[in-house]
Amino acid sequence: MRKKHLAMLLSRLEGFPEPKPELEQYRTPGDVAAELLWLAHSAGDIEGKVVADLGTGTGVLAVGAKLLGAERVYAVEVDGKALKVARKNAERAGAEIEFINADVSEFEEKVDTVIMNPPFGSQRKGADRPFLLKAFEVADRVYSIHLAKPEVRNFIKKFSADNGFTAIRLTTVPFEIPAQFRFHRKRLERILADIYRFERY
Ligand code: SAH
Repeated sequence: MRKKHLAMLLSRLEGFPEPKPELEQYRTPGDVAAELLWLAHSAGDIEGKVVADLGTGTGVLAVGAKLLGAERVYAVEVDGKALKVARKNAERAGAEIEFINADVSEFEEKVDTVIMNPPFGSQRKGADRPFLLKAFEVADRVYSIHLAKPEVRNFIKKFSADNGFTAIRLTTVPFEIPAQFRFHRKRLERILADIYRFERY
């Protein structure tokens, strides 16, 4: 499968039925998800690996990982309604995924690779921390998306180092957030996001 094809396929999956702002439920755009997955795949971190998607939402990253040959994919999500959509998306894509309806902090499986698009922490400050902490606990390799802002970059660098990980900023991509939340005035908000790989020291 080519990256473009994967992006198209992922962008066609169903979105959040009733997005909850407090959970920062905006789906990962297909091209951004494909970019993250391609970077991980090229580094040998997807094919034949046990992978976890933390905060899977509608399942975009989890489905992509399975399609790229992951041996096993766990997908953790606290919101049952989102998970229902994720299950449907997985079924349609023919991707077998182990869905877990729980808070990320409750996930206890050891995996090879974590992939995630955690809450950016713009609604609830620090909302990205339990995600990073759990990822650092269960995997040696982590791919994640964060806001491309100086203060976030500084935080990520320090927080990962404090937890025994090197943060490598792989690329910066445009990320479109639909104006589904009442505090968004524009129809579509375009922000910039960094895609990282974290490696245990
Ligand atoms: N990649 C997903 C979107 C991620 S948005 C997609 O494309 O659909 C972040 C997701 O994390 C949301 O689905 C939200 O419900 C979930 N979430 C937020 N806090 C959580 C927590 N503490 N535990 C598990 N899931 C959480």
